[in-house]
Amino acid sequence: DQTELTRAGRHGAVDLPNLDALWMPFTANRDFKAAPRMLVSAQGMHYRSHDGREILDGVAGLWCVNAGHGREEIVEAIARQAREMDYAPPFQMGHPVQFEAADLLAKIAPGDLTKIFFTNSGSESVDTALKIALAYHRARGEGTRTMFIGRERGYHGVGFGGISVGGMVANRKVFRGGMLPNVDHLPHTYSAEHQAFSRGQPEWGAHLADDLERLVQLHDASNIAAVIVEPMAGSTGVLVPPKGYLDKLRAICSKYGILLIFDEVISGYGRLGTPFAAQRFKVTPDIMTTAKAVNNAAVPLGAVFVREGIYDAVVNGAPSGAVEFFHGYTYSGHPLAMAAAVAAQNIYARDGLLTRVAREGLDAYWEEAMHGLRDAPHVKDIRNLGLVAGIELHSRPEAAGKRAFETFLKCYELGVLVRYTGDTIALSPPLIIKRGQIDQIADTLRRALSSVQ
Ligand code: PLP
Repeated sequence: DQTELTRAGRHGAVDLPNLDALWMPFTANRDFKAAPRMLVSAQGMHYRSHDGREILDGVAGLWCVNAGHGREEIVEAIARQAREMDYAPPFQMGHPVQFEAADLLAKIAPGDLTKIFFTNSGSESVDTALKIALAYHRARGEGTRTMFIGRERGYHGVGFGGISVGGMVANRKVFRGGMLPNVDHLPHTYSAEHQAFSRGQPEWGAHLADDLERLVQLHDASNIAAVIVEPMAGSTGVLVPPKGYLDKLRAICSKYGILLIFDEVISGYGRLGTPFAAQRFKVTPDIMTTAKAVNNAAVPLGAVFVREGIYDAVVNGAPSGAVEFFHGYTYSGHPLAMAAAVAAQNIYARDGLLTRVAREGLDAYWEEAMHGLRDAPHVKDIRNLGLVAGIELHSRPEAAGKRAFETFLKCYELGVLVRYTGDTIALSPPLIIKRGQIDQIADTLRRALSSVQ
């Protein structure tokens, strides 16, 4: 595997382009431009950096390249589709591959979430899910249900809907003026005191879901449209749901006719050893937002899964001939994204990738490797589930996040791409990873942690 990229004929250093014009997203632009880190090619488990080094991908790009990079079937499918038909309008017109893609997704859906709405990103999937919730209640004559309940330390993308229901302070404070009204938040589910170094799901914390009862009493069920949570919070530091927590949320939502939305943009498509977290936790939401690995991230794509009864209420409730749901994107079901989705889903099915992590005991191996870092310098907590881990570091006084950033830089220098969010190193490698590569990630992290101050 060390020669994966070399075999693919992708090697050597490349010259850097002019860096001035681009405003980079979620990046310290000045620091980056002073010391750029560029990825120039990718194959299997590896990237190649602009200075010609092979980098093991410990994050699957950004939690999204679940089948590994450069899958030939996906490349071929995109190229074939681009030649055949580059684009088709999605409103009042169809094209076959979008129906084929939806059909494949419906087959792996939890419960009866078998109606699929295509978007282009996780953020758009979240906005779409919130709008479907409003449309559903309105169609059933419960138009007063307009309120959303999110959760602290939730990340739901960067649209105004997503940052309103989300709970990441940095993503909200500058934009308060444009946020949705009528939003409240559940408390987050993490407690260092009760959960530190839990393996998998913590025992402590199911009772935190009872706060939903309090919010229902406060706002009245007749005003609440939906609750939205990530079944496992990813971008806010890998917060694993306590045992029984999601079941409780489900029960309270059902009791009051409130829709439960799972944001599975990260947890979907095999990350936790089942197709979706819903199946892993045996809790079925009413709407599920996905994106990222839906098509192995080769072309931007998101997919919202909706229960049949919700589709029926909105679609069958409208007069015949009328557009039932005033929502959609120019690129909903874009032919290239759809071709990539069909190819990716076929790979997932053929190679059993959506269940590999559990079936092959990779999650247990991963858990051992990650918790083996417990005695490494600076480690404050380690959290894991499926093929995800969060390694939280002690903050340096007055320098929150700095040590995690330095660890990320050091890992990159040592040939492994990790991610950091706040004081936590987040890991989520492609699902094709070998055990030896898990060891490499753990060894590299140990070396990096030993070298940072
Ligand atoms: N929801 C969750 C749970 C996510 O983790 C993300 C991105 O990481 C998003 C939504 C937003 O997705 P995107 O960046 O594709 O808009």
